[in-house]
Amino acid sequence: MAKLRLESLRKEFDRGKIVAVDGLDLDIEDGEFVTLVGPSGCGKTTTLRMIAGLENATDGRIYIGDEDVTNVHAKNRDVAMVFQNYALYPHKTVEENMGFGLRMSTDLSKQERHERVYEAAEMMGIEDLLSDKPDELSGGQKQRVALGRAIVREPDIFLFDEPLSNLDAKLRTTMRTEIQRIQQELGITSVYVTHDQEEAMTMGDRIVILRDGELQQMGAPTAVYDRPTNRFVGGFIGSPSMNFIDVRATREGEDVVLTDDDGSFSCRLSAAFADRIEDVDGKFTIGIRPEDIFPASEGGTNVLTTTVEVVEPIGSDNYLYLDASEDFIARVDSDVEPAPGDTIRVTFAEDDIHVFDGESGRVVGETEKVAGRASV
Ligand code: ATP
Repeated sequence: MAKLRLESLRKEFDRGKIVAVDGLDLDIEDGEFVTLVGPSGCGKTTTLRMIAGLENATDGRIYIGDEDVTNVHAKNRDVAMVFQNYALYPHKTVEENMGFGLRMSTDLSKQERHERVYEAAEMMGIEDLLSDKPDELSGGQKQRVALGRAIVREPDIFLFDEPLSNLDAKLRTTMRTEIQRIQQELGITSVYVTHDQEEAMTMGDRIVILRDGELQQMGAPTAVYDRPTNRFVGGFIGSPSMNFIDVRATREGEDVVLTDDDGSFSCRLSAAFADRIEDVDGKFTIGIRPEDIFPASEGGTNVLTTTVEVVEPIGSDNYLYLDASEDFIARVDSDVEPAPGDTIRVTFAEDDIHVFDGESGRVVGETEKVAGRASV
């Protein structure tokens, strides 16, 4: 067990034409479970491979515990990696696959190796499969073997590279819980790469969001969800995605009025909101999560009148696709059942509005919730 620190880590490919990881700083606590998430090509796997020593860093440092391992060979780093494609030896039995690393890197006796493998196999519930070969196993069983092989090593750090992507949805959910249980039981510092934001949110103590090789935000899942630092994170975390509307803000007396380009969206907000965004006049993008939108009661001030395009029932709730802006979705109770083409009045609280700079996309103003009213 150890903490893990990345300092200004950089990786270039093709003589600098591709910058896969760009000045990444991360501090991961001893025993922490951190998920690394971002769109395809954002540098997740490259980061993981540099930690494992499978890829050399172009610049920057990697520390495991207090040791600078940047130039330490992979086999001398105390890390175990679990891959998406299991990477099992097809001609070896489960026991041989799980014990192979131990045979190569320790001087444990055959009996001691067998005990360690059996213990890990029990943890993964595969003790009855020890004499089977990989091609006799299902995908889920193979991944259990791969996980068991990592556990056997008793490493300082676990690295997971999309280990559940090849499994069906139900098995993926089961395995998520299994991995979390084992990680907690063993207390081994873990970095888990996934492109699935839901997986990242449910599994990580903290979540790291990358884009184009750069760190966008690191924090507890709820903090990242509630207070995204930029428009990209706001849109990436949460399903369905946050709704965005590009607006111009102007001051009208004490209030702020937000309008979109074609004037179809107009929203009057309180002086408290004006304080929050300081420099009111200018271009912004506002973000509202689908679950923060509600049907408006009769009358009321904070109301958006719009047309229902599609109603998508998901059982507990309905998704309403609204004409307010492109891909504008409200998540409402399942008993709210307008028909496509209906005019609907919806509302959202002022303190649920996220405001991003229209140019840079960076969040604007205070991040804590602001009490107040919204009127549209
Ligand atoms: P995915 O989710 O699709 O696996 P990722 O976030 O893991 O993506 P990486 O595989 O780390 O992304 O790739 C980051 C960037 O580096 C991409 O532009 C990729 O094409 C590039 N890259 C990765 N490995 C190499 C390589 N060996 N040679 C050249 N370019 C590479």
